[in-house]
Amino acid sequence: MIVGCGKKESHEGATRIMTTEEVTEAEVATPEEATPEAMKATPDAASSQDARAKKEEAKTTEKVTTEEPTTEQQTNGKIVVLDPGHSSVVNGGTEPIGPGASEQKAADSAGTRGSTSGLTEYELNMQIALKLQAVLEERGYTVILTRPDNYTGISCSERAQIANNAGADVFLRIHADGSESSSASGAMGICITSSNPYVPGMYSESRRLTDCVLNEYVAATGLSSRSVWETDTMTGNNWSNVPTTLLEMGFMTNPNEDALMADPAFQDKMVDGIANGIDKFCFTD
Ligand SMILES: [Zn+2]
Repeated sequence: MIVGCGKKESHEGATRIMTTEEVTEAEVATPEEATPEAMKATPDAASSQDARAKKEEAKTTEKVTTEEPTTEQQTNGKIVVLDPGHSSVVNGGTEPIGPGASEQKAADSAGTRGSTSGLTEYELNMQIALKLQAVLEERGYTVILTRPDNYTGISCSERAQIANNAGADVFLRIHADGSESSSASGAMGICITSSNPYVPGMYSESRRLTDCVLNEYVAATGLSSRSVWETDTMTGNNWSNVPTTLLEMGFMTNPNEDALMADPAFQDKMVDGIANGIDKFCFTD
């Protein structure tokens, strides 16, 4: 059973489990701005000339200390929006399956759960998204996440709007699969069809992105490929007017794949494969 957004699936009770990464999501206090030296300088009572000189000196100091440091980090000019699927807070209600559509689908869904790891899908998706963000940033990409933590609810169309508003070069939706059969296995890419009525101009680049990501992902992980599923039933894909793919990374209901995907060393392979696919899409024709 595919458990991407907009598909019917079992709505399991979302258990709120604190993970290490969530604990570290606490707000970081903004450091107080340093008071400029010029503000501290008070006129010397002995001589107004001295005071003026001190002010000039302070200004010079201020100018030097407030100059923007030259950043050494090279950016490659590409923007990637990562969408870790689902959340512990499931956005309720329905929304149109695409712009102008009369057909409505659930705004979001609970996702699947690891049969061995005990992880929820939204936790695994977030773990991969955060690791992938770090790797992509090292490679020069600007990376934006659609949800900041596992307690933020967001609908599938809202996820796509974040990619649209960012003018993303890549919108990557990160999911894992679930099935009633514990033997179901493998990764799959999902993109719109060539006759998609909502964003018809997006097919060719979205299909190319899907191929790049899926092929590099299975090459890096050794997981089997279930190939690409072209469908116009995914709300988040139908609302996106940038190149979009949904990667089903593997089956959390398969004990072997679930254990692998929860393993930090294997996650590094998963993330490398996805990043290689994004590189290939962005920098080859
Ligand atoms: Zn999912």
